[in-house]
Amino acid sequence: MSRDFIYNGSPAHIVFGEGKSAAAGEWAEKLGCNRALVLSTPQQKADAEALAERLGPLAASVFTGAVMHTPVDVTERAMEVVRQTKADCVVSLGGGSTTGLGKAIAYRTDLPQIVIPTTYAGSEVTPILGQTEGGRKTTVRHASILPEVVIYDPALTLGLPVGMSVTSGLNAMAHAVEALYARDRNPISTLMAAEGLRAFKTSLPDIIAKPRGPDARADALYGAWLCGTVLGTVGMALHHKICHTLGGTFDTPHADTHAIMLPHTAAYNAAAVPELLAPVADIFGGSVGGGLWDFARQIGSPLALKDLGLTEADLDRASDIATENPYWNPRPIDRQSIRALLQDAWEGKRPA
Ligand code: NAD
Repeated sequence: MSRDFIYNGSPAHIVFGEGKSAAAGEWAEKLGCNRALVLSTPQQKADAEALAERLGPLAASVFTGAVMHTPVDVTERAMEVVRQTKADCVVSLGGGSTTGLGKAIAYRTDLPQIVIPTTYAGSEVTPILGQTEGGRKTTVRHASILPEVVIYDPALTLGLPVGMSVTSGLNAMAHAVEALYARDRNPISTLMAAEGLRAFKTSLPDIIAKPRGPDARADALYGAWLCGTVLGTVGMALHHKICHTLGGTFDTPHADTHAIMLPHTAAYNAAAVPELLAPVADIFGGSVGGGLWDFARQIGSPLALKDLGLTEADLDRASDIATENPYWNPRPIDRQSIRALLQDAWEGKRPA
């Protein structure tokens, strides 16, 4: 087996532990900042305001308008607040939507970011920003986008509803599964991916049994860090391409789309690289696709694209879009195979 690889460690500071979000102000000061703009979605306004309260004079303002897919008009409204308040850093409290807004500001200003993630999406450890304008989602990768400090505080995830915990966890697992066969994988990304999958295999059923259990919440957040890190360091393939197409064109919910598609895309690629996906079969039992599907069903995940409101005609269009520009995947892609894969995911069939 070839041992050739290139490895680049991330320069971000990762802080992990119960109650550690209380140190956000100290981290802002370490970054040389004293005018933080706190960001959140409207749903997490109360938590953002409480955080600003704790930051005291270090908080310049709070902007609670973050929404899914980082629309450019929302970023422009937030940028107005950055200018008015002369903010010198952003503190993003929330899931991938809030992190996305913080990244969009950093991309335009190079302001440092402190992120306190409250879902398992993993955006906080990637230098990637997806933003939407005029109904089109584009992705940029730049060093200024990678947050400088990430504080993983499981206490802030105790209230993440069980259904969202499940889909967000499966969303994270999809990063790890694709990292296992990534063309530019390295020994560390492979170790992190397998460890991330193991963390979710035990923590998601435990969260269902006891949603406010601190140990399971900490394990899931640990999995989110591992899976997000590999998303940020190696290339993704078929799975992310299809989910990007479905989310971008049909506005399907991000985490649910990943959760439904994962067993199908993994099964498709397992036919080409079974040895690389062996850790998935080991961890979840049985075949790669079947094992993931059984796990998703066990934890109550949505299983069928039709339940997200997609029609069979949408599948035709999605197959065209997902195959119009060639990209690397461990198994060759053609329109007919992708259409068949989408049909199975639409019906909610268990992959073999
Ligand atoms: P989200 O951030 O939109 O959160 C979903 C909802 O849950 C929001 O209303 C949010 O306020 C709420 N919420 C979050 N945490 C909560 C908690 N602990 N308790 C109660 N409510 C909570 O969803 P997401 O799945 O985390 O992020 C999706 C977005 O992130 C998409 O736009 C996706 O494209 C992006 N993303 C980007 C990357 C990247 O590397 N660029 C990676 C993953 C996801």
